[in-house]
Amino acid sequence: MNKFSEIINIIRQNFNQPEDFIPLHAPTFNGNEKKYLNECIDSTFVSSVGKFVDRFEEEVAKYTGAIKAVVCVNGTNALHLALLLAGVERDDEVLTQALTFIATANAISYCGARPVFIDVDKDTLGLSPGKLEDWLTQNVEIRNQGAINKTTGKKIAACVPMHTFGHPCQIDEIISICNKYYIPVVEDAAESLGSYYNEIHTGTFGRIGVISFNGNKVMTTGGGGMLLFNNEELAHKAKHLTTQAKMPHKWEFMHDEIGYNYRMPNLNAALGLAQLEQIEGFLKAKRKLAENYKEEFKRLNVHFISEPVNSKSNYWLNAILLKDRNERDEFLKFTNEHGVMTRPVWELMNRLPMFSNAQCGDLSNAEWIADRLVNIPSSVILQ
Ligand SMILES: *Cc1c(COP(=O)(O)O)cnc(C)c1O
Repeated sequence: MNKFSEIINIIRQNFNQPEDFIPLHAPTFNGNEKKYLNECIDSTFVSSVGKFVDRFEEEVAKYTGAIKAVVCVNGTNALHLALLLAGVERDDEVLTQALTFIATANAISYCGARPVFIDVDKDTLGLSPGKLEDWLTQNVEIRNQGAINKTTGKKIAACVPMHTFGHPCQIDEIISICNKYYIPVVEDAAESLGSYYNEIHTGTFGRIGVISFNGNKVMTTGGGGMLLFNNEELAHKAKHLTTQAKMPHKWEFMHDEIGYNYRMPNLNAALGLAQLEQIEGFLKAKRKLAENYKEEFKRLNVHFISEPVNSKSNYWLNAILLKDRNERDEFLKFTNEHGVMTRPVWELMNRLPMFSNAQCGDLSNAEWIADRLVNIPSSVILQ
């Protein structure tokens, strides 16, 4: 039997699914979802005011250890708001990794800022502290407690590392480098709910962290996002901005700045609360699947991406590395034709038409990974 068929066998055995289509990641609704949604409808509070929204914020803050959490309609607009709150303005530059989902770079663009793409590390798949420091040393000088790009004269207003597929990047090193340059860190933890670096939840290291509850993430609210804060005042400002910057008043419509309609509806929060109640079970099932994959792929000499040192991954999306781009493409074709959904990693941001003129550091690791990495089915398997 060839290697690809053996890989398919491993995947099918784990999902106990000998024939049917196996998706990459499907949500699991096995708890109080229907009950809370019904309560929500019965109460008539289905929109952005309601008890589930407030409770969901409290529970996510408690779960992650953030001082405050503020809901958003999705992870992308949570990132947009986080960047605004970090002080990103039009024509600023924002550092992020070339290997990320488009939302990271889009959110930077919504601010009128320009992304600068830095490499990732091969072991974490996240922003490389070494490459970050190299780029800053070569390109940036500090003026009046701000980091200025010597070539463009623009301010480096933020840095957005991302915890790829739930594997924590070396966030403490990234933050200490950014601190030297007075650059605030906004953590894109969209994929890493339930992932810890040095036993601290991802998304709580930077000035602001962002989680996504899209349908394909570890848990879902249908669509949704969350901002994590270690600072009450910033959280208060975030809530104000997500609710059209309306001044609290029983009947007057007074708004003191340009705000956004970014607050998650109660319906989505009801779903989210029911999902969060089950998160430990989801994470356990995902870890078990990853451990099985790791062991079984080892026998085939296939490289499986494991959690990096000093960290605990949520194993949101499992990934393997193929020999080269050729083998990767053959594998993608073979598996998808045989009813097992697999996907390459995102096209690198600097290769997309709208970012083709962006500044980049050396991207050799990201390019190497993009040629070889494939995501394989990773849904929660309930025992
Ligand atoms: C999912 C995701 C987002 C945004 O999430 P949405 O809720 O889909 O808007 C942002 N960044 C990364 C890296 C993601 O994977």
